[in-house]
Parts: sequence; structure tokens; C-alpha cells
Amino acid sequence: MNQHSENSPDSDRAQTKQLFLFGHRKDFVAGVRLALRQVLERLHVGAHYSEAITIIKREPLYRDLNNTWEQLAPPVRSEKWQELMERLVQVAYATRPYCLRCGECCHLGSPSLHLEDADLLLRGLITTRQIYTLRRGEPVRFNLEARLGVLEDELIKIKEDQTGGHCRFYEVEQRRCLIYHHRPLQCRVQACWNPGALENLWNQEKLTRRHLVKDDSALLEILGDHDEQCTPEKLHLAFKRFHESKDAAILNPLVEVLKQDLDFRALVRAELRYDNEELDFLFGRPLVEIVRAYGVWIEKAADGTFRLVQKS
Ligand code: SF4
Ligand code: SF4
Repeated sequence: MNQHSENSPDSDRAQTKQLFLFGHRKDFVAGVRLALRQVLERLHVGAHYSEAITIIKREPLYRDLNNTWEQLAPPVRSEKWQELMERLVQVAYATRPYCLRCGECCHLGSPSLHLEDADLLLRGLITTRQIYTLRRGEPVRFNLEARLGVLEDELIKIKEDQTGGHCRFYEVEQRRCLIYHHRPLQCRVQACWNPGALENLWNQEKLTRRHLVKDDSALLEILGDHDEQCTPEKLHLAFKRFHESKDAAILNPLVEVLKQDLDFRALVRAELRYDNEELDFLFGRPLVEIVRAYGVWIEKAADGTFRLVQKS
């Protein structure tokens, strides 16, 4: 294996496969060194290599593999290698238990808000134009578990940049947070060297729309009606049944649900004078956008009627 990490991921994968199939003890040692360099470079602490490799070499798992590598079958090598890589990442993070303010986490997305963050909105440090709601039943990606799924409870998030996907408060050129001293709880807890911190936070009470508009009974009533009539769960169930039966007629009633969702937004814009940016907070993402996650678009025909179109 090369000692430097300028390979593409595909080439790295091919080399790792070679290591499992044919590699000798010296290839195992070179592979560990290379993997450690790559992890440390990703964490911007390549200079911590000597410290980290010394710790790894003392690990019983490393010593065991170093002594037995040539006798192990490829599937056992693969399994033990994964185990060693997990330990290696922990060791790499442990050499740098502090935030470099590199902005990578801000670049990857925006935080969800917790009850403790309500104060930021009450004080106007973050406004309802800068946040949006993900409603119960929406299809989302769960980053911590690296899986797609459906939200069980409502979440409020800071909006992301529409082109870059980074947090709206992240200034890319300066690599800085525009609200650093008033950043939300999740950003304060974020510690890329200790993923467990975010996992614990996930179980704490989240901020919801009802925490923020609790004194506006007219608006609360409209939100309740909208949630009941235009719930994303209706989309999810309809698409589930459609995928099971392949009967496109199951999707037809959704057109009316999508239209109702648009009508609610138009009503609140016209009657209560909310603007489009605030609607993302009040009603979440429009259902016409959410259906795209299921591979379907809505089109308006010349006669003004709507129809769902499946994209191949
Ligand atoms: S927590 Fe975020 S900003 Fe801090 S070092 Fe990790 S990725 Fe960079
Ligand atoms: S609020 Fe600030 S610290 Fe938090 S993700 Fe956005 S830019 Fe980063």
C-alpha cells in the first residue's frame, strides 16, 4: 500500500480488498498507517500521527492482528479490520478533543432547534423567516443512523442555503458563523471528535411551532386544521399502498390534499399577512415539494386542474 492518501476512494477500496484477499503482515501494517494518516488529515491534525500510531500499536487488537494476519481467512480479516478502524477513529479523535472551528459541520447542514433555543427567537436573534418546520410523517434522512425514514415528531431547523446546502448562518468565504455567540444548542454541543454528545442531545425535547405561537389562538386553530387535512402521513401511506399494489389510482386523492395545502398557505398570506418565507415555518415544506421525494411531480393542466406525474 502507498503511504500517502492521494488515492481516490475507489482505488482505496480496491487496495483494501487486495489486503483482505492476498495481503501479508507488512501490508496490514502499511494499511493501518495509511488509514490513520487519512483519518487524521480529515480531522486536520495530521501532525498528531506519531502520538496516535503509538497508541494504536499498544492496542491488543492491533497486536493480535499483527501476529496472526497471515493465518486469517479473508472474511475474518475484513471483520477484524472494521473493528480496528472503529478503534482507530476513536484514537484519532481523542488526540484532538476540541473544536477547530473549521466549519465543516456548518457546511454539511443546519441544526435542529431545542426547547432551550426558544429564547433565541423570542429575542429576535433568529427570526421565523430563517427557520422551517419538518412535520411529523415527512420523509427525511436520519444522519446519525445514516438511514432514510419518516419523522415521528415535528422538528424545527435553521434553513439551509438553497445551492450549497450549508447552514444559512454560515459565511462560506470567511468560514464563520454569523451568530456564533448566539448559536443554537445543537451547535454548542456539536463535537465531531465525540459523536456520542449529539446522540444524547437527540433525546432532549425539541422546539415545535406550538411552543412559539402558543399565544395566538387563531393561528393555532389554522395549524391544527392544516395538520389534520394535509398531513404528510397521508402521502406516506398512499405511496406505501401504491408501491405494494402498483395501482396508480391510489394516488389520485392526493391531488386534492396537495391543493388544500396550497390553499392554506394562500389564505394565511392573504388574511394574516404572513409572507412566503414565514410559511415554511408555519406549514412546513409545501406538500408539492415533499411528493418529489417519492419520485412524483405535480403539474397544472391548461384547464387549471392538477395531476401527478411520475418521473422515470
Ligand atoms: S465541531 Fe464542527 S467546527 Fe468544530 S472541529 Fe468539528 S467539524 Fe469543525
Ligand atoms: S448556526 Fe452557526 S454554528 Fe450552527 S450550524 Fe449554523 S453556522 Fe454553524
